[in-house]
Amino acid sequence: MSVLKSFIAGQWVGEKAAKALPSAVNGEIVAHTHDDTLDFKNAVEYGRKVGGKNLMAMDFQERALALKAMAMYLQEHKKELYALSMHTGSSKADNGIDIDGGFGTLFSYASMGRRELPSGNVVHEGPVTPLGKNNHFAGTHILVPRGGVAVHIDAYNFPVWGMLEKFAPTFLAGMPSIVKPATSTCYVTELAVRLMQESGALPEGSLQLIIGSTGDLFDHLEEQDVVTFTGSAATARKLKNHPNIINRSIPFNAEADSLNSAILAPDVTPEHEEFDIFVKEVGREMTAKAGQKCTAIRRILVPKDRVEAVCEKLKERLSKVTVGDPSVEGVRMGALASIDQLEDVKANIQELLKTSELVIGGDGSFKPTGEGTEKGAFIEPHVLLCRNPENGCGAHDIEAFGPVATVIPYDTVEDAVALCAQGRGSLVTTLTTRDPAIAGRIVPLLAAFHGRLHLLNAEASKESTGHGSPLPMLKHGGPGRAGGGEELGGIRAVHHYLQRTAIQGSPTMLAAVTREYVRGADLIETDVHPFRRHFEDLQINESLLTHRRTVTEADIVNFGCLSGDHFYMHFDEIAARDSQFGKRIAHGYFVLSAAAGLFVYPGEGPVLANYGLDTLRFIEPVAPGDTIRARLTCKRKIDQGRTSPDGHPQGVVVWDVQVHNQNDEMVASYDILTLVAKKPE
Ligand code: NDP
Repeated sequence: MSVLKSFIAGQWVGEKAAKALPSAVNGEIVAHTHDDTLDFKNAVEYGRKVGGKNLMAMDFQERALALKAMAMYLQEHKKELYALSMHTGSSKADNGIDIDGGFGTLFSYASMGRRELPSGNVVHEGPVTPLGKNNHFAGTHILVPRGGVAVHIDAYNFPVWGMLEKFAPTFLAGMPSIVKPATSTCYVTELAVRLMQESGALPEGSLQLIIGSTGDLFDHLEEQDVVTFTGSAATARKLKNHPNIINRSIPFNAEADSLNSAILAPDVTPEHEEFDIFVKEVGREMTAKAGQKCTAIRRILVPKDRVEAVCEKLKERLSKVTVGDPSVEGVRMGALASIDQLEDVKANIQELLKTSELVIGGDGSFKPTGEGTEKGAFIEPHVLLCRNPENGCGAHDIEAFGPVATVIPYDTVEDAVALCAQGRGSLVTTLTTRDPAIAGRIVPLLAAFHGRLHLLNAEASKESTGHGSPLPMLKHGGPGRAGGGEELGGIRAVHHYLQRTAIQGSPTMLAAVTREYVRGADLIETDVHPFRRHFEDLQINESLLTHRRTVTEADIVNFGCLSGDHFYMHFDEIAARDSQFGKRIAHGYFVLSAAAGLFVYPGEGPVLANYGLDTLRFIEPVAPGDTIRARLTCKRKIDQGRTSPDGHPQGVVVWDVQVHNQNDEMVASYDILTLVAKKPE
């Protein structure tokens, strides 16, 4: 009988069998947890010293590439994960959410990291704020890896995605992770960690795995560490109040129970396409992962006069869902993760029935499909109806973590908002409406109680990723009862694992720290045009002050004819005289083009392409007779490890451009983004 192993301090630990983990489908034992004691003091120290050091030997860009390599390796071994995950009761579609969803999260963070993070291990969070009259003293912010370890405690429902959604931003930030999956499904996480290990993309010490209890782990955490948690509100409360977490102010991010809603707006009647879309979404969310999703719909809020129609349509839809062994052809919904969970859900249905009546399920006729399933953790979808929510409604408090939802009637949309708020903070609500005015009115009211709001109509439904899908680029988390946490959320999630620090000093000092040119910093000027330098040779602060050019009326006329832009400010003497500038002025885009003409080096060279501008501002007008010159300064270099289509290695260089007039007034300011070749091998 296989004994699962923890992966602690670079060793797979676990010989003696402890708890047997039965299949949720047929009760057969899949694996055992181990009985070996883990040395958590050593695990934490090893994470900080070995993992931290190895991660710091890489930079943001290299770690992003490593995430991609891990994701690609995992993808090649997807079948193994799918086969094992079947024992958790997951259908093929459920595995898609957990396993492919997990890989997708790794890929997303890999590309976000490459796009949005710099080379090196310091994120400059500008803008720089001048703090002195003559720009000798300024302030800005940097974000750096925290230096500690991140402990991630996960729920049982997503053994792969749950681990990867926390690991990906942590790894990208440069922090080692110690992950603790929920015991009942930890055999799938163990396999995923083994595969990540085998991928060769995981630096030593950057990921440790705990099978079983966390023992005295929390006693060894320090101020630089972080804890994240997904699971029940009760456990979150208990762990958050651990004396060491409180005494050392260790950040604790929780995502807990959430009583999510679906609201059918009063403008949608059974004749509308949106009515069917609403029922389909509710049905899908109730049955995906057998309702064991933190985002699953628990409360179905419908106008009073549409209760019967919604129940009828839901019944029709849910009756088509075959429940049973997910490996059997035609089965659409699998089992709950364990018999304990099944008992829990049944007990919660009894609690809900104190204020509601059953309208779908629970009539005793249910029999799961497949052999041996009588020993599995199966339950059919249950829909309850709370006819008089004003007399109390258990659905606002009780989370039956299975395919269970309660229909709640409402009078006005404001009542619907008030009912929603009784969930005391949720991860997500779907509002189905055809009317943008309803959305515009109530979404800001709902937002105060939600981490995410999904607006569904016929147009959006064609491409909607669904009510229940947390997306790596958007924040996943909710206020109040939902834990008050923030997960995913793009680069924002990476920031959980970085320390933000304000830096004050001279511009030259700030440029040295942020590795970005800061205006006012000492410039490096040489006889070589910066466009003549390869990526490796270019230095931050390397700068070129161009020759001058006097702008003439002929420039304006020529540019107007070339571009077709005959705006009165450039061509109508009378109208221009009445304008705020009191005279004709040159096109802003002419100034840009003229500046490029001043600073580019025309010959063939390492600068390969200009792919855009950032932060463009036209500050002062340029009129005929004004004389302009530009200053081009190397601001930022990012090595994404990319090559051009013909195989030539290249990096991104961002240039600061300032254009001044004859009075030394700045007339235009912007960054240009270029690709610059690296030196030939
Ligand atoms: P728990 O809160 O019991 O467990 C969540 C995680 O915490 C598991 O990894 C668990 O490990 C661990 N844990 C429990 N006690 C401790 C402790 N004292 N010290 C350290 N770690 C601990 O939640 P469940 O997974 O059992 O789910 C229970 C309920 O939580 C569900 O019925 C549902 O209501 C809610 N839930 C909410 C989710 C969400 O995302 N919002 C997701 C999943 C569940 P172990 O398994 O070893 O006990």
